[in-house]
Amino acid sequence: MIDTQGLAYRYPGGIQLNFPDVAVPQGTVLLLSGPSGCGKSTWLALVAALVRPTAGQLTVAGQALNALNSVAADAWRAGAIGFLPQKLHLSAALTVAQNLAVAQWASGQAEDPVAIRSALAALGVAELAQRKPAQLSGGQAQRVALARAVLQKPQVILADEPTASLDDEAALDAVQLLLATAQAQQATLVIATHDARVAALLEPALPAANRLHRLQLQRPV
Ligand code: ADP
Ligand code: MG
Repeated sequence: MIDTQGLAYRYPGGIQLNFPDVAVPQGTVLLLSGPSGCGKSTWLALVAALVRPTAGQLTVAGQALNALNSVAADAWRAGAIGFLPQKLHLSAALTVAQNLAVAQWASGQAEDPVAIRSALAALGVAELAQRKPAQLSGGQAQRVALARAVLQKPQVILADEPTASLDDEAALDAVQLLLATAQAQQATLVIATHDARVAALLEPALPAANRLHRLQLQRPV
């Protein structure tokens, strides 16, 4: 569940980004769209409690984020949020399995090889566990990054431009993978994108009961 009221953010020295209110029920899908520079990545950062709003309230996965200090926000994020960033940030020196293990340490968990294997298997990349990121295709690397994002079974999955620079077939793959992963974990899924193909891919892929929520941002003036 994601609920925002009067949300706004101003970068130091920048203009203020004002975001329309949303109420996204748990387990549904939000398409966050709009042209480059309209504030999609900033909105994701607010929902992940990576930055604090300049104004407004938001509740994510049952937590009022305004109430959290930065230490509490880090702990909350580690359990509640799965982030698939635009740049995947896999460590080149580490194997796929080690990249996932590092994510577990970073979120204060003990390394759990069983959870790592099962997350990789769920995304069809278990056989790549001992490879280095340089030995992966773009699609494989994205699957690994998604496996890492959902290791702790987060209630909310945030994907930033997951189809950027993908051809049509790979874009469909990425969208279906995100939907299947979110559905399997009953997570709320947010896809932030300026890619008009994504809406066309999402609509038919969603079960009828799970209507697509939309937040369309405008470039600030
Ligand atoms: P989008 O993801 O939709 O392309 P962003 O959220 O990245 O948009 O950026 C929204 C606006 O905030 C843009 O006008 C951008 O220039 C500005 N912005 C983004 N990051 C910073 C930053 N670190 N400092 C100042 N302005 C920023
Ligand atoms: Mg962005």
